[in-house]
Amino acid sequence: MTGRPSLAERLAQVRATLPPQVRLVAVTKQISAGVVRLAYNLGIRDFGESRLQEAQAKQAQLRDLPGITWHFIGHPQTNKTRGILTHFAWIHGVDSLALAQRLDRTAGELGLTPRVCLQVKMRPDPQKFGWEPGDLRAALPVLDTLTHLQICGLMTLPPQDLSHPEIQTVFQEAQALAAAITAQGWSRIALTELSMGMSEDYLLAIAAGATIVRLGRILFGERPAEALPNSLQSEHRAAEFLS
Ligand SMILES: *Cc1c(COP(=O)(O)O)cnc(C)c1O
Repeated sequence: MTGRPSLAERLAQVRATLPPQVRLVAVTKQISAGVVRLAYNLGIRDFGESRLQEAQAKQAQLRDLPGITWHFIGHPQTNKTRGILTHFAWIHGVDSLALAQRLDRTAGELGLTPRVCLQVKMRPDPQKFGWEPGDLRAALPVLDTLTHLQICGLMTLPPQDLSHPEIQTVFQEAQALAAAITAQGWSRIALTELSMGMSEDYLLAIAAGATIVRLGRILFGERPAEALPNSLQSEHRAAEFLS
């Protein structure tokens, strides 16, 4: 009888499919600090979390582990920018000029230079955060003046229920958008990172040029309930506007 594959086995299987230049971010939302430690002992150094409080609690239990890079992959609420900046080196979901400016100002106060991916929506999708490509392009002149953020890539989530070929196209379009923006020759912005691909679609993302994949379930198994499903993002957004 063979039991469920261990984390080590799952990780080995995933690693066998990853080109060496692709950064694997292990998404540990709803995963205990003990399991994060196991993953660390298997060599993982990049971890992704989507909620500040949950991440803070885990980080406090993992202070003895050197060399971890924490990635914030949720939607940064504007009233939490200070906490997010102090606890994460990368912020993947920056989706508005106001948020970018606020993060930049606070990063300056804290003496931090976080890496930032701009979240884009390559298809209209009311359930997701993200810039429309045209709005993103319009914001670039101002984004390029921000001196504390290292705006280094795009992040994208394809809409749910797309076929594999459609997802592939979405990823390719994100890659082309990043390349086109970078080719414009901004003084600070160079979008060389593509944060795209989750458990279900990361191979499609890699084929389209992803440099960062964010993997949860394929490593750790199904979560009890989705931590922040895309369908909830709009509710969070509404709550944020009301607060
Ligand atoms: C949860 C989450 C992931 C990981 O998804 P899996 O399907 O578990 O691999 C990746 N990116 C974001 C933004 C997430 O919220």
